[in-house]
This record gives sequence, structure tokens and C-alpha cells, in this order.
Amino acid sequence: MGSRSVSVGLRAMFSMLTPNESSFERVEEVPPYVQQATPFFVGLMVLELAVGLLKTGRSVVTISDGVTSIAAGMVSRLPLLLLRGCELSAYMYVWEHFRLLELPWDSAWTWWFTLIGVDFGYYWVHRFAHEVAVLWAAHQVHHSSEYYNLTTALRQSAAQQFASWVFYLPLALAVPPSIFAVHIQLNLLYQFWIHTELIRDLGPLEWVFNTPKHHRVHHGRNLYCIDKNYGGILIIWDRFFGTFAPEEDKVIYGLVFPIRRYESLFVQLHYYRYLWKKSKAYKTFSDKVSTFLKGPSWKPGKPRLGDHVDNPKVTGREVPHRPSWSLPLQAYVAVHFLLLLWTYHELFQNKMMLSQSTLLGMICYILLTLTSLGFIIEQRPNSGFLETFRCVVMVMMQRYNCLTPPLPFLTVPTEAFVSLSLLFWALQSFSQVLSIKRKSD
Ligand SMILES: [Zn+2]
Ligand SMILES: [Zn+2]
Repeated sequence: MGSRSVSVGLRAMFSMLTPNESSFERVEEVPPYVQQATPFFVGLMVLELAVGLLKTGRSVVTISDGVTSIAAGMVSRLPLLLLRGCELSAYMYVWEHFRLLELPWDSAWTWWFTLIGVDFGYYWVHRFAHEVAVLWAAHQVHHSSEYYNLTTALRQSAAQQFASWVFYLPLALAVPPSIFAVHIQLNLLYQFWIHTELIRDLGPLEWVFNTPKHHRVHHGRNLYCIDKNYGGILIIWDRFFGTFAPEEDKVIYGLVFPIRRYESLFVQLHYYRYLWKKSKAYKTFSDKVSTFLKGPSWKPGKPRLGDHVDNPKVTGREVPHRPSWSLPLQAYVAVHFLLLLWTYHELFQNKMMLSQSTLLGMICYILLTLTSLGFIIEQRPNSGFLETFRCVVMVMMQRYNCLTPPLPFLTVPTEAFVSLSLLFWALQSFSQVLSIKRKSD
């Protein structure tokens, strides 16, 4: 990576590119800024960990929570292996068929107008995601951590993109898709660095920009934090529409009813099941529909967004849930997760050269791995059987060169590690079967 691309990549993380270097005529020319950001995500997360250790003497992130957050980020981008992002596809359709005027793609005015337009659209995407229960079912993923650090930023929903595209369509009446494709990425990237407790106050910047201080409030479950500070890059929208709240009491992070689960598919999907069950309990059709379309806290007889005073009280002494699991298992999950991250990275790099069926197979492998590691973190009784099966799949993949380690000299150690993992879990499962049999005898 040249020094210029490092500079562009780093500045893209803070939406600090100039119109000159990030205006393109055609969508195909727009760099995949989010995909290129991986080294900066990793670098900033390591920096936060080091500064946090020096400042507080404690790690700002735990393996169980950090792995679950990064896993959600991985799952959220899996659909992109098979189809172009929903937001951009719908946008291009409206631009091609219904545009009213064509703002010049090479004008700085168009670039700045789009930055503000996308951020305004994001404010409403985000507000609806909190105020409409069926959209909250997707967005709750992002709020499901009880920690607040840079890994929390990556905890994203896979389903949200299938609804958010609507909010950006008005821009497609005038703004070329290539400029939209830049800003939809920069808007997302900007929101990475604000997920930290290490930056306390940024002075006058707090008036205009969304900052760590404002976004901490957004992630709080204290009464004063609920449904506040929706902004993406700018906080002015919240100040204007009356949804702004300054940081006051100690913020306690996470969902009002914390899920305390670490399995990726559960984290992504559990709220849909909850909504379905909630709606079934109501008798009238209108109450059933309202369950999905009104606020997540809504109940019959309550206002549209429900009554947050009914929520469990936050005292400020709550501590995040930490599963108790052995250190060797933590190391095991961490190493296998790093191996999976490499496979994931390679998959996105080479996706153009792979067939649809290979891509589908790899998506299944990634979901299987995340589920199995989640089972281990949660110490589910059947985790040994699932992990044995996954290790068999890994051994097969190594045989057919689908699992290449980051560096050639790691090939033999990786193969040995995967084989030993298989042996360990196979023995574990075998001894469990024996003990079940002995009990039933
Ligand atoms: Zn939110
Ligand atoms: Zn956030």
C-alpha cells in the first residue's frame, strides 16, 4: 500500500476526503472504501486496546463480546458477496428511470450537497429504525453489546440494508449514483471512530458533529438516553428535530433488556421471533399490526413509542455480563476466529473469480463457524458435537485448498492446529456420549 493510499484510507475513516480526490464519473470507478478500511479498523482497535490498557490498566474489550461484535459485522456484509448493495441498486434504478435533473458529478457543490443529503437521509433511516418495531428488529443488533468500544461499531445488522434504501431515494432524483456511492460509504466509515469511551470531549466540534460523547448517549439504556442522538456525521439534525440529549449521568450501555447471548444468528434474528410472539398475544388485528409498526416499547393503550418509564430502572452500578469460561477455550476461540477472519478477507478479495455455488458454500461455512464458536462461548451442551463437525469441514477444506493461511510458513502449523482441534472435540464428544449412556444405564 503506497503512502498516498494510506493517507486516503485513513482520512476516509473520518470523512476527510476532498471533493477533488473522491468524485467519479461512473459507479464502477468508486473505490470500495469500506472494504479497504479493514487494516484501519484493525489498527484503530489495537490502538484503543493499548491506550485503554495504559489509561485504565484494564482491557476495554473482552473476547466474548469483541468476537460477537466483529462476527455481526462479518455477517452484515455477507449478502454483498452475492448482490450489489440494496441501497445502491435501488438508487441506480430511480436515477435511470425518474431523475428530474443531473447535478454535475465533477462539481464540489454536488459533493458537499450529497454529504449533507446522505447524512440527513441517515438521520431518518436511524430514527425509523428505533421507532418502528419491525425495523428495530434489525437495528437492535447494533445496540446489543453492553460494552462501548470500537468493536461495537462493527456490530451491524444484516437485515437493515433491506429497508434503509428507501430513505435515500429522493437524492436519486438529482445526484449521480457515483457521488452517492462515495458518500454512503464515507457516512458509514465516519461512524466507526465515535464508538469509544477514551475520547471524552471535543470542545466546539461537539456543537456540529456527532462525536463519541453524543453517540455514547445513543447507546445508553438510561431513561435520558432512550431514542436520542440519531445523527451520523452531523448532530445538528437532532438539535433541530428535538431528539438531542447531552451526556449527563454515567451511561449504561446496551438493550433495555440485555440478551447476553453470543451466537451470531441468534443476535441477528431473535427479535423477529419475539415480535411474532408478542403480536400473537393480542386479539385485535389493529393491535397485531401495531406491534410491528409502532415503537418497540409500545403496548395497547400506550402512546406510539410506548412508555419508557415502565422500563427497568438503571442505577448506574450495572456491570456488563461476562460469561465464565476457561482461558484455554478463550484462546481457542480467538485463534479460530482469526483464521476465519483471514478466510473471510480472502473471500472478498477473490469473489469475482468464484462461482455462485462456491460463494454460497463459503457463506455457509462462515455461518457454521460463527455459530459453533458462539456455542462454545455460551458453553452449550452440544457445542462439542457441532465443533467436531466444523473441524471435519475445515480438514476437508484444507484438502481442497479452500483454507489458505495468511503466510506460507504457517501452512503446516495451521493444518496441525486444525487436526488437533478435530481430535480434541471428537474425544470430548465421545466422552460426553459415554457419560450420557452411563447415566441412562
Ligand atoms: Zn441506533
Ligand atoms: Zn453506534
